[in-house]
Order: sequence, then structure tokens, then C-alpha cells
Amino acid sequence: MKIFKDKNALQKEILKTKGISFVPTMGGLHKGHISLIKQSKKSKFKTLVSIFVNPKQFNKKSDFRSYPRNIKKDIKLLKKLKIDYLYIPTFKDIYGFRTKNKVFLDKSSKELCGKFRKGHFEGVLNVVNRFIEIIKPRYIFLGKKDYQQLYLIKKHIKKREIKSKIIECKTIRENNGVACSSRNLNLSRSQMKIASNIFYYLRNLKKKIKKNYSLFKINKIKKELTKLGANKIDYLENYNIKSFKKIKNTNKKYNLFFAYYIKKVRLIDNI
Ligand code: AMP
Repeated sequence: MKIFKDKNALQKEILKTKGISFVPTMGGLHKGHISLIKQSKKSKFKTLVSIFVNPKQFNKKSDFRSYPRNIKKDIKLLKKLKIDYLYIPTFKDIYGFRTKNKVFLDKSSKELCGKFRKGHFEGVLNVVNRFIEIIKPRYIFLGKKDYQQLYLIKKHIKKREIKSKIIECKTIRENNGVACSSRNLNLSRSQMKIASNIFYYLRNLKKKIKKNYSLFKINKIKKELTKLGANKIDYLENYNIKSFKKIKNTNKKYNLFFAYYIKKVRLIDNI
């Protein structure tokens, strides 16, 4: 595994390859990331993982500061996984150049997480656009756990006619149902139990509303989640996963999207 902190050296190296499979991350690696990496390694291209905690996608400084980081442990894990390249850029490496493409932000970026985290998706698309211009990956592996992010990146790629292909990867969960997330590292054991109870409650709810949509009574559900230990609920909505529009009935394939807090830790998922 070769480690790069500078895009010029990285570009020189990857020019020699027949293409790159790219797995962007913010570190604090877990089973979700590992699954993306393993899928990437099955492709015919070299696997490049990036670790960059992108300040521009955090709408609160405190959230950026408390984001779990564990670079030594991450490097050890990536070596074990035998990836080809690890890119750990500095802020300047990413933001110190003019991009060819302008970010395209689909209007659905104003919904769900976009409503509650001002500037978040602008920040995500900005950094992804830059990574794409530096690496020119053939494939980009993204997790469905962050489905709105995945959807918006796909829209940007289509609109700007970028050649990279997005590979959508399924959400990996802990044994207690909770989606693996770097943010889980900031949860205590009892808080993890709350997250697990909330997951099972919502999974069960989804089954019920599939049969009878009138059971989707948002205020009642929010009260229930509060009882289970959620401190603040940002949203809880059913979206068609193709059109990414809020559903009116359960005829089409949809997921229940939710974001809530346990104390200061914000968790998102979709089931
Ligand atoms: P992050 O480091 O949180 O920015 O995530 C990097 C990539 O890993 C994104 O494409 C995420 O959607 C994906 N990812 C995060 N958690 C999971 C998970 N539990 N299962 C699958 N993919 C995930």
C-alpha cells in the first residue's frame, strides 16, 4: 500500500495504472467501509481509498472537531486489506485549485438532511467533485446508508457528463441492527442500545405501514422515539428510492429515511 499526501505524486503514480476504483471516506473506518473496499478490490482496477474529514460539509464547528478520527488504526486496517493506494490529502491539496466542473446541486438537496444541515451537501459535492478531478476514477464505491448523498452525487455526475461509474453498496449493520457509522464511536454502550431499540421499532413500523399507510402518524411516532431515548428528531419520512420524492402511498419501492440525535450524536439511516 502506497500512501500519498500530495496530489501531484498521486497523479503521477495512477497515470501508470489502467484505472482506479475509488472509495472516499472520512476515516474512523468500520465494517461499512470495509465492505465498500472489498467490493472495490474485486474490480479490475487498482483500489484507492481516501481519508479526509472535509470541514466544508460540517455545519457546526463542534461537530467537525468531535468527528471520530483514528488515522493510525485506519492505516493498519487498510494495510491488512491490501489496498493499492491511500490518499490522505491536506486541505490545501483539495481546495487549492480551480475545478473544471461546477458543482451541480439537484433541488432534492434541500430536503431531509439538506433542511437540517445548511451547506452540508454543497460541501459534500464540492469535495467529491474535486476528488473526481484529481483521481478521474473509473468506479466510485458509495454506501446506501447515506442515500441522499449517493443520489446527489449521481445527479452531479450525470449532469456534468463525468465518466466515473457509481457503484451502490448495501448498508452494513452491527448485530444489533444499527447501521455501522464512525459516529457510533461517540456512543456509550447504553446509547447504542437506544439506537438499536429505535432501529427495531422503525423496522417494524415500516412493515406495518406497508400494509396500512394510515398508520404513519408522524407525531405519534416521534413521541414513541422520544420515549425510547431519542433526544431530537430531525426527520422521519418515506421516500421513493428511484425518484427520491416523498411518497403518497406504498405502491412503489420506498425507504423510511430518518435522522435523530442521542445526546449530541446525530444518526442517520434508511430502511
Ligand atoms: P464516511 O466515512 O462516513 O464519509 O463514509 C464513506 C463511505 O462509506 C460513504 O460512501 C458511506 O455511504 C459509506 N458507508 C458509511 N457507513 C456505511 C455502512 N454502514 N454501510 C455501507 N456503507 C457505509
